[in-house]
Amino acid sequence: MSLRGRFAPSPTGRIHLGNARSALLGWLQARAAGGRFLLRIEDLDRARCKPAFLEDLYRDLTWLGLDWDEPPLVQSQREDIYREALERLERMGRVYPCFCTRAEIARAASAPHGLSDEGPRYPGTCAPLAPEVREERARMRPPALRFQALPGEWCFEDGLHGPVCQDVATAVGDFVVRRNDGVASYQLAVVVDDAASGITDVLRGDDLLSSTPRQLQLYEALGVTPPRFWHVPLVLGEDGKRLAKREGAFAVAELRERGIAVERVLGLLAAWSGLGDGTPVTGDALIRRFRPELLPRTPVVAREELLKEALGLD
Ligand code: GLU
Repeated sequence: MSLRGRFAPSPTGRIHLGNARSALLGWLQARAAGGRFLLRIEDLDRARCKPAFLEDLYRDLTWLGLDWDEPPLVQSQREDIYREALERLERMGRVYPCFCTRAEIARAASAPHGLSDEGPRYPGTCAPLAPEVREERARMRPPALRFQALPGEWCFEDGLHGPVCQDVATAVGDFVVRRNDGVASYQLAVVVDDAASGITDVLRGDDLLSSTPRQLQLYEALGVTPPRFWHVPLVLGEDGKRLAKREGAFAVAELRERGIAVERVLGLLAAWSGLGDGTPVTGDALIRRFRPELLPRTPVVAREELLKEALGLD
């Protein structure tokens, strides 16, 4: 089967150079293999996603030359598909209603970026509730749905990190698959969509590494073979923290609006990926240069000197 990769951004801000690098690497992986590259808009967190960011996103990717081969899936338009998957899990008795009012339930629509986003382990408070109690509580407020975490170590072979294992039940506990406002959680939607799109290779930032064992449990429950995973170490600022969308200096849209040549931006992204020294380069040249063995295995620091030199800024 030929490779199918994807980029799945959330339009919660203008994409920065770190996001663009993930998109570029996914695109290069697909193009170099003669595969397909897809785009998915992860906009389930309605409060944080803005149409203006989505417009910028399409423009940025087009400007960078990172084209996609099929109409993008837009998660906010796929409620029925997620509902179907949730109903299947319900019929299989793999989920239960949770009435806890924790911030975690509200956050579940967004991908947790790193351990600090995860919140504490869910202790299973609502798991043993009797059916009558559930009915009574549901009359007061709609419940979230939690997937019963499966016990033991869940392991996979990451293309870049090698073997990765997590005991989901101990580390995370039963996790949210539907928020109490009815919206599917990030973990559920990402699995349903990658499966629906026939994605064979998920390349994304390694701040999502700790989400993968949960996703593997959902793949198994839904009877789908999981894709291969390539968790790319992030681009860090000089302060050692990961780049954030709000750091305007690194926004792709800003560079585009300033009239910086796209080859310069690609040259910088290539340098951050072990594919060049920062000199301007075209996407086609990078496809020829790309090999999966070259994918970065350690975090890279966005040194200001290289950034300015590559982009031609003083
Ligand atoms: N939408 C997620 C994000 O903003 C990425 C999901 C994924 O690649 O699995 O980081």
